[in-house]
Amino acid sequence: MMRRTLFVVTCLGAVLAARSLQAPIAAQDKKSKEETQQRKKAPKPKVTQMRSPNQNSRNGAKIDTIVLHHTAGGGTAKDVGRQFQNAKAEVSSHYIVDKEGAIVQAVEDKARAWHAGESEFKGRKDVNDFSIGIEMVNKGDGKDPFTDKQYQALGKLVAYLQDEYGIPRNRITGHKDVALPKGRKKDPAPNFSYDRLDKEIAKARGGESPPDDSKSGGKAKAIAWGAKVSPEFRAKVIRIADELDTSPDYLMAAMAFETGESFSPSVTNKDSGATGLIQFLPSTAKGLGTSTAALKKMSAVEQLDFVKKYMQPHKGKLAEVDDVYMAILFPKAVGRPSGYALFSKGEQAYTQNQGLDANKDGKVTKAEAASKVRDKLREGRTSSNRR
Ligand SMILES: [Zn+2]
Repeated sequence: MMRRTLFVVTCLGAVLAARSLQAPIAAQDKKSKEETQQRKKAPKPKVTQMRSPNQNSRNGAKIDTIVLHHTAGGGTAKDVGRQFQNAKAEVSSHYIVDKEGAIVQAVEDKARAWHAGESEFKGRKDVNDFSIGIEMVNKGDGKDPFTDKQYQALGKLVAYLQDEYGIPRNRITGHKDVALPKGRKKDPAPNFSYDRLDKEIAKARGGESPPDDSKSGGKAKAIAWGAKVSPEFRAKVIRIADELDTSPDYLMAAMAFETGESFSPSVTNKDSGATGLIQFLPSTAKGLGTSTAALKKMSAVEQLDFVKKYMQPHKGKLAEVDDVYMAILFPKAVGRPSGYALFSKGEQAYTQNQGLDANKDGKVTKAEAASKVRDKLREGRTSSNRR
């Protein structure tokens, strides 16, 4: 990854931090309380029951995961339901969603369907034990489209299942991500859009967030600065943070700093040309296979794909907010101790950033450089900004 030069002086976060975009705290607190009280469980969409014999007991395992599949074929949900009724096939899923948005339920939720095969999710084997399997009718060639009606029906179904069983967003996964050995499965196909699914889930809930975890009884997962972004953005940041083994709060704090709390995909620094959520430099954008012009045209939710791509090499080393910020600012410092010197007296970069040298010892350390982002983390976690 490219190191950024002239970083702090050109950073929008520093320039724009003085802006106040917030409503009075008391008013926002009241609003979020009312919203929590009004939250209703998403209803179960209409399904056609077609029992499959290909099922057995979960042996007491709790449902906490959803696995998405494509059927690798055509037809209707009922056609697939009939295939699952063939005991010799030894395969099934709980639900099938076809291109017309029709849903067939082949196995009751409480029973164990046979969809994932040999598998592992977050260190736990035999995913069939604790998951709900959903098949989407699709050829799986990456070209056959998942239809609007299909996404809508899937969004309703997933919203219902999340609310019913307290399944958090980071436990909605794909067969290809759980199948063993790795690479055994390719579904759902690459043209399946999790962004679109998130949008439909939010719609099914009337714009509400998905539940946090099973313990919270369906309460929304709140993240730092969540009040500034859309439910889809929140859901995607939670998912990306999970994939990068870091906290969504850290990503949000870094993006709040970089964008002056606007979370705008097109916010641009006039001097450096740095653009968007983590102020991608033109050279950085190129290294990621895009351009600042292209990034500027994306929605914030779309641009998050490039935030993830940028952060990917640092996966597993992003345990602190300082490290998330270093990944953006000065990648060499990721995983280093807090006293690690980024710039020392005599260097041009030190002169440009000596305001950050809080203890005036002639070194700008990692901790000193990240202090403003730590402030953003604290601020983002206050009740008016957290959501
Ligand atoms: Zn599958």
